[in-house]
Amino acid sequence: MPATPQDVLRRVFGYSGFRGQQEAIIARAVGGGDSLVLMPTGAGKSLCYQIPALVRPGAAVVVSPLIALMRDQVDGLRQAGVRAACLNSTLAYREVLDVEAGLRAGRIDLLYVAPERLLGERTLALLDEIDLALIAVDEAHCVSQWGHDFRPEYLELAALAERFPGVPRMALTATADEPTRREILDRLRLGDARVFVGGFDRPNIRYRVVPKQNPREQLARLLAEEHAGDAGIVYCLSRRRVEETAAWLRERGIDARPYHAGLGARERDANQEAFVRGEGVVIVATIAFGMGIDKPDVRFVAHLDLPGSLEAYYQETGRAGRDGLPATAWMAYGLQDVVTRRQMVDGSEADDARKRIERRKLDAMLGYSELATCRRRSLLAYFGESPPARCANCDNCLEPPETWDATEDARKLLSCVYRTGQRFGVAYVVDVLRGKGGERVRRFGHDRLPTFGVGADRDAAEWRSVVRQLVARGLLQVDVDGYGGLRLTGEARPALRGEVAVTLRRDAPARRARRGRDAGAAGVQERRRSAGPAHQALFDALRARRRELAVDQGVPPYVIFHDASLVAMAERRPRSPGEFAAIPGVGATKLERYGETFLAVIHAHGDAADAPAVNPSTTGAAAGTDVAGDRPGTDL
Ligand code: ADP
Ligand code: ZN
Repeated sequence: MPATPQDVLRRVFGYSGFRGQQEAIIARAVGGGDSLVLMPTGAGKSLCYQIPALVRPGAAVVVSPLIALMRDQVDGLRQAGVRAACLNSTLAYREVLDVEAGLRAGRIDLLYVAPERLLGERTLALLDEIDLALIAVDEAHCVSQWGHDFRPEYLELAALAERFPGVPRMALTATADEPTRREILDRLRLGDARVFVGGFDRPNIRYRVVPKQNPREQLARLLAEEHAGDAGIVYCLSRRRVEETAAWLRERGIDARPYHAGLGARERDANQEAFVRGEGVVIVATIAFGMGIDKPDVRFVAHLDLPGSLEAYYQETGRAGRDGLPATAWMAYGLQDVVTRRQMVDGSEADDARKRIERRKLDAMLGYSELATCRRRSLLAYFGESPPARCANCDNCLEPPETWDATEDARKLLSCVYRTGQRFGVAYVVDVLRGKGGERVRRFGHDRLPTFGVGADRDAAEWRSVVRQLVARGLLQVDVDGYGGLRLTGEARPALRGEVAVTLRRDAPARRARRGRDAGAAGVQERRRSAGPAHQALFDALRARRRELAVDQGVPPYVIFHDASLVAMAERRPRSPGEFAAIPGVGATKLERYGETFLAVIHAHGDAADAPAVNPSTTGAAAGTDVAGDRPGTDL
């Protein structure tokens, strides 16, 4: 009798229930239908094709663009007892022959293959010979010529529809905007596909945006105070900034490594590998990094520069916390970001229609950055989903920012920009507003303007914040070709006349300096340590064992068990194989392979922990042993 999806979920992957639309998606594929699956990073797309691959007869083919990561994916599946293999240019000829023989003999259920390899006649002919369970196209947005991940080979995947009629196909991506969706359906000839848009909320990710002051220092503080020893990704806009930031972090003792398209392939792969296999590596990258990386224990994603769209932001931040444990999405944002991004759009080669779309996307991103209300709500609304009743996990929900009626202040600022001739930069305009009459101000006679000094009641930082917010809203514009002069836009008129109310959010630098903490930081550590110090020590011991096993087998630690599984072991302390099997992520194969060794760790630890109760004099010693394992980087 064939296994049901539910059986496979439990027996192979060790999970007790499906998430979101997984069940419906799997049923569609098992029934032979095509689908397009749009789910955010970390929502659980892989199981959507892995389970049909095991339920349906024959082998499933998974097209994936990232050769460097295929091996990890295959290793992960093999750990769970799945008969998986890959075909790509990194394989030796003998290995290729092995895989081909395995396929012919029905010994492979899941084959990961690079698109160019799949489309080679040799592979196609081989696939003609065997039963195909499913063709899955991962990272399907790579067919989109507009996207930054465009891969020309992906366009040729359309041919699979004719070559293998009757084989269900599934395209998957985390990029969910409408044009990309249409392109995928069209270019992959998925006319009959059912479209599943699923579960965009990532409740374990805490969204935070801070005003950019000294971004590197701010980042260093985030890492030191909340993410010591954690794996994370830092995104920067330029290669140079990537290099500088990585070097700067390294000087501060953080294992940070650069990643961008300008590095040699060897260095890039080595850095990626260190990140994937390590436990506390920070990768500093341009957007070139991240696709196809399914490392589950990325604890933070930090943006030092503003992404160009909410799609990009959501995809990048989604790489945090796939294991469901608490994770941070943090961004430093300032006026220069607005200016740079606007300039990128305006100066691009794209046609006008495209530019209009890009501008809209940027405006949405800016709106999000300036938000005074729940960020999660705004993100989900943007992606067309209804928000959860309660967020309680973004900076604005945790510490609602003050807003103030800035109608008058906006007028003062706009008027000052206007009267000084719409050619001076922020610093100058703010000086005039605050009545700071330097030599230059006097030379231009601006100390005699009616707006001179009308803003003396606010400090320069406050005025800069007003400028940024008005620029973000499109009332002011920064002249990027000249000297950064501020200019009014057509939108400014009603505000200048005081016909519309302007409400702004109060940036919190002053408030923050007093309290020494970013909004949203409060409670992160507590939240992450909810398991308590007793569990922490056992968690560390389990983690050490996992590391040994990973090194022995040359695989990333997380393919043995996710942190989430180790946390559950530390909390529940299973004593028998039966209890161990109930831990999420423990399937039949992992139980058999690792049950004994991890139970032994739990057992040994239990004895150590119990000992002090019997003999208080050993308390110090026992605790001492445990604490010794409490290195930085072992935060829960
Ligand atoms: P995506 O490909 O959508 O980015 P993944 O397929 O890598 O996401 O899944 C993210 C994480 O969620 C993985 O660690 C996976 O093991 C876990 N996961 C997926 N589905 C379930 C489920 N039904 N129950 C528990 N964990 C799940
Ligand atoms: Zn919120």
